[in-house]
Amino acid sequence: MEKHFELTRRRVKLFLDDTRLGGKLYPAKQAPKLTSYAAPDRIAFAQALQGDYHPVAVGDQFAPLWSTHWVKVEYTIPEDWRGGEVYLIWDASCEGCIWIDGQPQQGLIGTNDNWGEIKPRRVRYRLTPTATGGETGTLYIEVAVNTLFGAVDDPFHSVGLLRQAEIALFDREAWDLYWDMFVIVDIAHNLPDSARGLQALDVANEMVNAIDLNDRSTWPKARALAQTFLSEKNGDSQHQVYALGHAHIDTAWLWPLAETKRKVVRSVTNALQNIDQYPDFVYVFSQAQQYAWLKEERPELYERVKAAVAAKRIIPVGGTWIEQDGNIPSGEAHIRQFLYGQRFFEQEFGERCAEFWLPDTFGYPAALPQIMRGSGIKYFLTQKLSWNQFNKPNRSTFIWEGQDGSQVLTHFPPSDTYNGVCTAHDMLFGLKNFKDHERARESMYLFGFGDGGGGPTEDMLERLDRMQDVDGVPRVKQTAPIEFFKKAEERWDRYTKWVGELYFELHRGTFTSQARNKRNNRKAELLLRDVEMLSAIASWQTGYVYPQAEIDRLWKLLLLNQFHDILPGSSITAVYEDSTVQYADLFASGEKLRQAALDALLPPCDPSGKCTIGVVNTTGIRRQEVVEADMVDSLQTAADGKGLVLVEAQPFGFASYQLPEEVWEASGYQEGDLFVLENSTLRATFRADGRLISLYSHLIERDAIVGEGGNQFVLYDDDPVNWDAWDVDVFHQEKKSAPLAATSVELIETGKLRAALRFTYATARSHITQTVSLTSTGQILEFAHEVDWHESHKMLRLEFPVDVRAENATYEMQHGIVKRPTHYNTPYDLARFEVPAHRWADLSEPGFGVALLNDCKYGYRIHENVIALSLLRSPKYPDPVADMGQHEFKCALYVHQHSVDYSEVIGEALAFNIPLIVRGSTQHLRESFFEVENAELIVDALKKAEDSDDLIMRLYEPEGFRGTALLGLGLPVRRVALCNLLEEEIAELEIVDGVIDLEFTPFQVITLKLSR
Ligand SMILES: [Zn+2]
Repeated sequence: MEKHFELTRRRVKLFLDDTRLGGKLYPAKQAPKLTSYAAPDRIAFAQALQGDYHPVAVGDQFAPLWSTHWVKVEYTIPEDWRGGEVYLIWDASCEGCIWIDGQPQQGLIGTNDNWGEIKPRRVRYRLTPTATGGETGTLYIEVAVNTLFGAVDDPFHSVGLLRQAEIALFDREAWDLYWDMFVIVDIAHNLPDSARGLQALDVANEMVNAIDLNDRSTWPKARALAQTFLSEKNGDSQHQVYALGHAHIDTAWLWPLAETKRKVVRSVTNALQNIDQYPDFVYVFSQAQQYAWLKEERPELYERVKAAVAAKRIIPVGGTWIEQDGNIPSGEAHIRQFLYGQRFFEQEFGERCAEFWLPDTFGYPAALPQIMRGSGIKYFLTQKLSWNQFNKPNRSTFIWEGQDGSQVLTHFPPSDTYNGVCTAHDMLFGLKNFKDHERARESMYLFGFGDGGGGPTEDMLERLDRMQDVDGVPRVKQTAPIEFFKKAEERWDRYTKWVGELYFELHRGTFTSQARNKRNNRKAELLLRDVEMLSAIASWQTGYVYPQAEIDRLWKLLLLNQFHDILPGSSITAVYEDSTVQYADLFASGEKLRQAALDALLPPCDPSGKCTIGVVNTTGIRRQEVVEADMVDSLQTAADGKGLVLVEAQPFGFASYQLPEEVWEASGYQEGDLFVLENSTLRATFRADGRLISLYSHLIERDAIVGEGGNQFVLYDDDPVNWDAWDVDVFHQEKKSAPLAATSVELIETGKLRAALRFTYATARSHITQTVSLTSTGQILEFAHEVDWHESHKMLRLEFPVDVRAENATYEMQHGIVKRPTHYNTPYDLARFEVPAHRWADLSEPGFGVALLNDCKYGYRIHENVIALSLLRSPKYPDPVADMGQHEFKCALYVHQHSVDYSEVIGEALAFNIPLIVRGSTQHLRESFFEVENAELIVDALKKAEDSDDLIMRLYEPEGFRGTALLGLGLPVRRVALCNLLEEEIAELEIVDGVIDLEFTPFQVITLKLSR
């Protein structure tokens, strides 16, 4: 080789293409007979057999997008291919699946034009390893007219184009030579300036010189050159890569759930093919839901999966029902992901998962380490933070410590992907990008086509096989994740520690996009909470049979909809159509269960008998509230004609209505041009244009509002550079409308139990009706909204400049709070310009603060002294009609004395989200089933135990306090045990006179098992 390295690199690469060595893989080809049937839908194989088949040929295009076609392939292997290995080559530029004898055999990935150098492709299926010659065969291909990425990556409108359909004789000698050379060329290209890279280049060049493509007697010499190079090993200190075959299958995203089920079949059959052909291959498979679909719909295939799990070739990972969104699900919902997931894996495979597997979620709350540890998991894998916009993580393997102090060993695979393709480039990038070389010598590598599934291909495995230990690239071996974590764990004490949330510096629009879906999530979480609590109490108090199977079904529906592209709002229209139907089922079925439990507890009025109002309170707060009810004489008629009454309710209990001894009054009145809502606590003063110019606290004698006033609806230009539904980019803050001015105002209720104002606002396209109300006993000023929304690339916020100066704001997150800065001092602070939160966020000084509560929102922005709630967005991709149409949501201002941790904000937010249940009943009673005294622990769940008739009670400490609470039990409890989140006993607790002394630490989640 002369000194012309760049030219030589091009030469050796060119030699691999399809007109040179690559063209030698299939020395003979023949066209099979093809007929196809345009199926009406995604149908069963048996139904496909009955179809009406017509001839189809290369050059035809299956259409339309999302349709299914079944192709019958009939072939005869030529006599002279005797002894040869024969493949079907099928490329219809879309996904497909080979079926033989009614069973799926292998997935197919057609060529997609819109990809980089290594295209997702799997276009061959082995018909026989050794042909006898002259044999015939028939198989079917289920053609799915969509790509791995649905239908969006189709700039050439080629999805479904049949490019190739042949049976082909395979030359394994050419194949082996090809991959030897490919890997050496790859190393030569990726180590251009190193000794080893130039050695690779020289070997590749010598191979080109040695090979006569038309004289296979020249090939062994070239292979020998390659073998010498590939057998030169690394030194002892070389980094070790633990490679895991995987297919990240988004449970819904750019395709609907129905297609996901087929993606699972295609990916799993691919993995099983690889298992048969490659002895080192190990496949990691997450998400219990996807296994459950197989079990239900493809039982034969599921049995093969079970056998592969038993043989340790398929490794169930993750421990969760699906790979969920991190930010938005409640703490209890995260717990149920693990409860249903781990139980499924244990029941089906006899083992729980050792690691939490969540490579692709948009942020990780500080509650997760405790939830993982409580679910038997101490290892965590993700990589999404490598996408951070401002600050890339500076560690790859580290200890993540949650808000309560729980620790998990965490790993970010340094190749920054969960869709690796096993090239020297991937290996060398991972080595360079690994952030902990000073303390660790191993990292993980996830490979296989993913997002839309597909998984590892033969090409990847051939490359990986050759890179196991070649000087110049890191060592790589295929393993289960546990082997990596066990090795890494040996140095647990040497890793750095990250404390608190792992905020993702991207995709901040996902706290707000698809607002109706998010509202459904909040309402469904709380409905199931009520259903379980009331059913549990009813089952102990009466003969009511706890509806376990139906509750499980509804929980699993909710958990499915918390998938990391459904709940964040990043899926296509069809996904939200499915989701809306599932939520409708959930609400109808859940409401039926709630009513059934209530009927058992509080017998409903019979038409002849006397009827009284029963009030049911499923929160731990003693409540006195104004509610709508028509069953007794009301003290006020509401604007909608319903009666208003004032009721009192015990914590976790019932009360019959009685007129309170003293009734404070609310009033609404006009004062000149201003409109005032007032009770004994607050006086809210509005201008006619909707601006809240004063919110005065009679208790604190201080006004909460400053500057231009609150209640500002502001429209921001929300046009992110990359990911429409996902992102709110930082520059959106620079371009916004003037606050909307109300087009009408009306005093609709003037007291005495409730006073209310109604404003309307309009843009050129959208319309907002806002009802602001204050009740006689209320500590909060409530804002209820109905919006008809038709904007494009606009974000709507409601903003309140408050008279508070604080460098940090407090946000409710799962099982606790997180404090985040109100300034942009550093890139870390700026990155958090839009943040997730649950039911409230607060800005407090010592002694005074203002919280903004919400009933279904998750995006907040608190900059300097302005508290803003992100209400609606209007992205156009991937769902062009995202968020268009009708919306309903509420928020409320709560002004308090003291700093936030000594305020009543948690109780107010719970009451705001969990309304009292008011119903007619024949029964008079006043009862509390349990009560927490001496501490503000939240009871987040009361349910039947999974494996017995015991009850499980879950509590958590929400603010960071430590102490001993007194849990008073109104139910007949004989024994109490402390459990982990999988409901396994840890210790027995003492009950003294129906009271348990419950010690707790900051943000602790406590699970109790109560036995009769
Ligand atoms: Zn994903």
